[in-house]
Amino acid sequence: MVLSNSYMTNKTDKKVVTRFAPSPTGHLHIGGVRTMLFNYLWARKHGGEFLLRIEDTDKERSKKEFEDSILESFKWLGLSYDAMYRQSENAEVYKKYLEQLITEDKAYISKEEPKEPGDRDSVIRFRNPNKVVTFDDKIMGTISIDTTDLGDFVIAKDFETPVFHFANVVDDFEMGITLVMRGQEHAPNTPRQILIWEAFGWELPEYAHIPLILAPDKTKLSKRHGALDTREYRNLGYLPEAVINFMALIGWNPGTEQEIFSLTELINDFDLERVQKSPGVFNIEKLDWMNREYIKLLGPDATQSAMLMYIPNTIRNLAGYSNEMAARIAPIIMERISKWSDITTLADSGELSYYFEQPTYEKDALFFAKTKLTTDTKYTDLIAIIEGLKMRLEALENADWNTESIKKSIWDYTESVGRGDALWPMRYALSGKDKSPDPFILSETLGKEETLSRLDIAIQKLQN
Ligand code: GLU
Repeated sequence: MVLSNSYMTNKTDKKVVTRFAPSPTGHLHIGGVRTMLFNYLWARKHGGEFLLRIEDTDKERSKKEFEDSILESFKWLGLSYDAMYRQSENAEVYKKYLEQLITEDKAYISKEEPKEPGDRDSVIRFRNPNKVVTFDDKIMGTISIDTTDLGDFVIAKDFETPVFHFANVVDDFEMGITLVMRGQEHAPNTPRQILIWEAFGWELPEYAHIPLILAPDKTKLSKRHGALDTREYRNLGYLPEAVINFMALIGWNPGTEQEIFSLTELINDFDLERVQKSPGVFNIEKLDWMNREYIKLLGPDATQSAMLMYIPNTIRNLAGYSNEMAARIAPIIMERISKWSDITTLADSGELSYYFEQPTYEKDALFFAKTKLTTDTKYTDLIAIIEGLKMRLEALENADWNTESIKKSIWDYTESVGRGDALWPMRYALSGKDKSPDPFILSETLGKEETLSRLDIAIQKLQN
């Protein structure tokens, strides 16, 4: 294992312990995934421990449902943690440490003037030594903040109800956290937490505040930019490996051109030294690109079962639907998607149904936009062209019914009657769409019988 220099010069004697400490007040947001991932990678890289701490001291806003959702997202992403803690189960410990600070006169029970009916008449306040706190952040560098303005800040409402900063510090100590890595929005809170560490005389952890994530136009990231909660990526049919790979590259620069990283490679290559200070950019198009790369790596079985899951009922309920045909169009679909739910989008925009049923269309749509056929005779002329196509296709043996032979059998003929005037109506007769795969692929996919039958239907339409 290669340890980075900064790690070697710092706590060589200590095993690395990191944690991810979500508050279960919402689902796991994609930004949280990045914090979790960096903590995970750092711990695994150093053969250390990665812990999960559910910060549920806020009884009103914390919900079991969100905790479950966070755990579910962890599972989906395939990241393991070595132990899990819940702050709500740690009340005795906070109480013990609150009592200690009060005994040592580093905190005190403060009588308060209730501002509103129902307000408390006492809280526990920290005796602020009012000094400048300076710490070396592994990403942001040296940070100095004068804590005087904080006054004697509240660390607990009562012995049973510590506030965020206090519980956070006590747990980081108790859990043996060596590196506190979290979003940059927490950096301004760190000096007040350090004061609490110092009051106990505990050895400080290291800190790494990771950069914010912005939208490509450098504005605040939101749903509009595709930044969702983790469950939603799962529902949209992104692969967890792609989500992880994508998030790892937001704010961390591997220093090479490499973009596709397995989890093992991320563990090996990730380095805090290469995490930037400035905000990272969330670009959903890059995620789509990356997801497509991961989909391409899947074997045919995985691809097929995922595909079958995302083909909507509107397609399944078509009389001509078969799993066999669905499997046959898999390669065509794969060309067009970057995540599984794109299959549903394709279906909704009518780009799959024609594989399973005769398309409906107006006969005039069968004419090529730049047709060379003369207006007076165009219907009979087009019928003749399609008859010519049919004749040649009929002559093909079933065993030879593949894209290449199909193309070969009609290629010279289409040249002689005008490429567009033959291939456009052929394609249109098969798909009923202005845009679709080429007529050779369509013919192979639909099979000989269906192809000829659709050409017949085109002829019938032109006759009326
Ligand atoms: N519970 C805090 C949050 O969800 C995390 C604080 C920390 O990581 O120290 O933002």
